[in-house]
Amino acid sequence: MVNLDAAHIRRWVLTLPLAFEANLERLNSLDAQAGDGDHGSTILRGVRAAAEAVEPLASESAKTLLETAGATFRRRAGGASGPLFSSLLLELGRAAKDSLDLPGFIAGLEGAAALVMRLGKTQLGDRTLLDALVPAAVAARGQSDLEEALRHAVEAAEAGVVATASMTARKGRAQFVNAGQVNSPDAGAVSIALMLKTLLEVVLEKADQ
Ligand code: ADP
Ligand code: MG
Repeated sequence: MVNLDAAHIRRWVLTLPLAFEANLERLNSLDAQAGDGDHGSTILRGVRAAAEAVEPLASESAKTLLETAGATFRRRAGGASGPLFSSLLLELGRAAKDSLDLPGFIAGLEGAAALVMRLGKTQLGDRTLLDALVPAAVAARGQSDLEEALRHAVEAAEAGVVATASMTARKGRAQFVNAGQVNSPDAGAVSIALMLKTLLEVVLEKADQ
């Protein structure tokens, strides 16, 4: 596949609320084990607002759709999570034009990882969304086809999620929980992997049509 076009991006943003509705309880309960139990609800509020914002934009570019979705998510998810989790949409938007090509996809993932490091003062291994995002960016970089890059990014993000289960949180509320008590993955890492997996599913579905 050559590019992610505006229709893929719009379908992705419209599908995110369904993916996060299906995972709402799981994400809240993962966050409850290490934080305050609101993560699923926060992300769902953000992606629902983003979907509402792109719904009427059927003839806009991939860039406009991603930037609109990202800015809306950031505002409506709110708190510390809005800026952190909108970074993926916003940085993909910054790298997109009419459509999103392979270099843009890689630049978007890398830009999002850099933004999270800066905003959250986070490093790899701190048990955050970064532990899914950075492996995804690294895996995408080695690829020469966008669909393959996306597939590898999803696999790497999911492996990153598994790895967070044995990490000690050094950021956010989770750092106040004794490491021995948490053997489950980081909620934020699960969310990033789910966002990327939803994009892959949209691409595969569209390829079938
Ligand atoms: P809150 O901690 O404000 O309740 P959420 O529950 O929505 O926010 O999100 C929690 C997730 O945010 C964590 O699972 C982790 O992935 C991520 N996170 C928390 N603090 C930071 C940080 N300083 N830098 C990067 N990510 C962070
Ligand atoms: Mg929380």
